[in-house]
Amino acid sequence: MSFDTLALQPADPLLKIIGAFRRDTRTEKIDLGVGVFRDEDGNTPVMRAVKLAEEKLLREQQSKSYLGPEGDIGFVERLADKVLGNAVPVERRHGLQTPGGTGALRLAAELLAKAGVRRIWVAAPSWANHAPVFLAAGIEPRFIECFSIAAQHLDLAYFLEELDGATPGDAVLLHGCCHNPMGIDPGPLGWQAITEVVVRRGLLPLVDLAYQGLGEGFCEDSLGTRILLAAAPFGLLAYSCNKNFGLYRERVGALWVTAPDAEQGAIAHSNLLALARANWSMPPDHGAAVVRVILEDAELTRIWREELDIVRERLAGLRRALASEGRIGKVDLTQIARGKGMFATLPLSRTQIDWLRDEHAIYLAGSGRINIAGFTLPTIARFCDALRALDR
Ligand code: PMP
Repeated sequence: MSFDTLALQPADPLLKIIGAFRRDTRTEKIDLGVGVFRDEDGNTPVMRAVKLAEEKLLREQQSKSYLGPEGDIGFVERLADKVLGNAVPVERRHGLQTPGGTGALRLAAELLAKAGVRRIWVAAPSWANHAPVFLAAGIEPRFIECFSIAAQHLDLAYFLEELDGATPGDAVLLHGCCHNPMGIDPGPLGWQAITEVVVRRGLLPLVDLAYQGLGEGFCEDSLGTRILLAAAPFGLLAYSCNKNFGLYRERVGALWVTAPDAEQGAIAHSNLLALARANWSMPPDHGAAVVRVILEDAELTRIWREELDIVRERLAGLRRALASEGRIGKVDLTQIARGKGMFATLPLSRTQIDWLRDEHAIYLAGSGRINIAGFTLPTIARFCDALRALDR
């Protein structure tokens, strides 16, 4: 036996950028590549609410015995109340804890495949891991090229027109808020229009909500999710707590299936539990327990929400500062102020991206995606100077 039938797989391009950034000895270097929040000092701190919840767990947790494939159900239920409110009644939603948003997406894709779904429609460009996750579960992603990077614009009419041509029973992926990598969301009227097509065409919506609270506000950021899942008979919600609780490597996530009645929901849920059991048996506990402790405690929730507000305000402030630089060559920064969350994608070629790295120590993804949180006010000025030099 040998593995000589296997071909060498390329390293994740973002990991390569992280490595190159780390090795770069220039002190003025700027990292706009990796998708984590950074404060004004360039750190990705542990939130105070998280530290307090961890202290409480350390003092009070009595056992680390197994839970089950559903994970920490107190975490799942508290989170569902916060995210969905009463838009989706309790008997219509059935959830389980997953290893991060990625685990939730993978499980959702496996459930879709098991239910006979073959295709998922996705607005392009999308998060680079969406296609691999769906393909790994045997679901074919169908991309709708409806974002213009040059104009920083979502052509929603085109997206809806293409979606209208989908076969009933197809799935459609929607970013709940803070689109990665474009930072452009449909807005309440857009969500209404999407919901109308999804319901009329009999499509199955899968919402990927990975940045709740980093866009317009915690409640505002799940408005579209609530509109859609309240109206569609069946749906899926893949959730990540890794950005809005700053828990990244703890891998905290959840997946809910929504169904027209408790009986059909219970069947779908039992399939999710069986799939989870075959994948990871049960999810890692610590991060989800931390989120549960925060959500169970009014004072910890208050502290966390204040910290999340600071994250959101920092992103919005940096967006305004970038936008105030106007248009630089082909890059129209004015639209950035209208964007939401951590990302935007700029119309830059590979040669220009390499030049920014080599000449100015500015690192961004090969797609032109920038992490807004990678900036500080002084580095925005440096970045814009570099863009002006690029244009000359
Ligand atoms: N969905 C989107 C759109 C994302 O950007 C990410 C993380 N970058 C995820 C899901 C998954 O996040 P995680 O697995 O870290 O929870």
